[in-house]
Amino acid sequence: MAVSIHNNIVSGPEERGIPAHLSFGQFVFDKLKNGGDKTAQICAETGNSVTYRTILQNSVNLAVALQDLGLKKGDVVALSSENRFEFTVASLAVIYCGGVLSTLNVTYSPGEISHIFEITKPKFIFTSPIIAQNIYDCSKDLPHVKKIILFGEYDVVPAIFYNDLIKKHININDFTLVDVNGKEDTVAVMCSSGTTGLPKGVMLTHVNFLTLCAHMKYYLETSQENKKHKVLTGLSLIPWFHAYGFITTIAIMCLNIEIVFLIRFDEEQFLETIQKYKVNMTTIVPPLAVFLAKHPLVPKYDLTSLNEVWCGAAPLSSEIQVAITKRTGISFIRQGYGLTEVTMACCVDLTDGKKIGSCGTPAPGMKIKVLDIDSGAKLGPHQEGEIWIKSPLGMKGYMGDKAASDALMDKEGYIQTGDIGYYDEDGYFYIVDRLKELIKYKGFQVAPAELEALLLRHARVADCGVVARPDELAGELPVAFVVPQPGAALAEHELVAYVAANVSPAKHLRGGVIFVDEIPKNPSGKILRRELRKMLSAQVKSK
Ligand code: AMP
Repeated sequence: MAVSIHNNIVSGPEERGIPAHLSFGQFVFDKLKNGGDKTAQICAETGNSVTYRTILQNSVNLAVALQDLGLKKGDVVALSSENRFEFTVASLAVIYCGGVLSTLNVTYSPGEISHIFEITKPKFIFTSPIIAQNIYDCSKDLPHVKKIILFGEYDVVPAIFYNDLIKKHININDFTLVDVNGKEDTVAVMCSSGTTGLPKGVMLTHVNFLTLCAHMKYYLETSQENKKHKVLTGLSLIPWFHAYGFITTIAIMCLNIEIVFLIRFDEEQFLETIQKYKVNMTTIVPPLAVFLAKHPLVPKYDLTSLNEVWCGAAPLSSEIQVAITKRTGISFIRQGYGLTEVTMACCVDLTDGKKIGSCGTPAPGMKIKVLDIDSGAKLGPHQEGEIWIKSPLGMKGYMGDKAASDALMDKEGYIQTGDIGYYDEDGYFYIVDRLKELIKYKGFQVAPAELEALLLRHARVADCGVVARPDELAGELPVAFVVPQPGAALAEHELVAYVAANVSPAKHLRGGVIFVDEIPKNPSGKILRRELRKMLSAQVKSK
């Protein structure tokens, strides 16, 4: 591994560099063409499958139909759906047209959907019946929304059907993708809450996505070098509306590896699918690693076909990493580290267990420095500080929020991660804590500021602060410290129910509510979350 440490900056291997003019759409288009009549995707639930040729044909048909409806370069198209065949086709069609894809969590509440629509102002919206009603309610009065396009066959809301739009056959050889400037033009806007505040729209460029695809190829080639069995079948179970699920799935598909996907996570189906399809590779999140290490169902299945398991999105405990290998015959759980702001993966551990607990070394072309939290000095090996990253994977910025984008980047072009970690003398990184506000429930982002704003709208809440309660299975659970209005009677269950009625499941107050007299704040009124965390651990100890 060509990793170097100079002047307390850890650099990944040299990158060939992606030419700035390239289009991600053209790259995928060419890969789909190469795939021909091979199976590209299989739905584990139904057993139905599609070939590369079908995805290519349908995505071209749809792209032309979208252009006929008025889709122009730079227009945003929102997409909210569970994993299903139409998801890939719709995403690619938008990208071929030079459109900007904005994916939304399928469990979002109306308030969360409206917040994202306010940022991205979509012109078209693809949706599936399970969330169509909320999508319709949130968009019917928005002048910028021209059409809702519905997956499936049931007209649950006023919309046009995806199935009708793909009907008109277009000769693929007559189709030309819209020209883009790969380095400048945004290909997708994905949700993240950054280091502080409400959820934001991370703008990623064509070159960001192309670079990630090149990295995935490099990771797989490097990690597979000495293995007997090659990766032929991958399992995709992370929701595709999340950047991690979306881009890893497309990148793997572009390597012409067959993908079996789950519509939603189901324990037995997950294990059965690995056994039935002899899956070689999958990407998981730490709660699933805990499941593999501990759940009684796991030993009943043969999982030995799996020779590449990548785990990211939240910290993976070393004990769990070791326990899975002992229990399942899966040789190693490869940990990766990344964030939406740097197109997901910054570090991946390419050893086979030499550096347990590490999330690996920097990706090709990436530079990482660790800064002392107080002095800002660049730190050497084994010293903990905040991680800063410079890379061709760095986002273009937050949509409509230049101030937040500028605040995240230093003058040398490094992006602040808000994560605390260190590297060892070989350039392997270890993430130990989080400085930013973000809470991660099962790998999903929960922005404390969003829950605090919601709680403050409750008539009987005078003040509040939200932090994470550590949890073995979920990683972290949101817990609210609440000051009730003077004289008001307020019960924990009321607030838990109030939050559950207004936000998606990942953000529910599973960590509970703690009533206090005062929220600790600094002189400028900023919540002292460190103090809240101390109060939480004192409370846990006293129990
Ligand atoms: P997201 O943008 O949703 O992928 O969230 C990014 C954040 O997830 C990072 O800034 C980290 O706080 C956390 N994260 C991702 N991967 C890891 C990891 N391997 N170990 C610890 N935290 C992680």
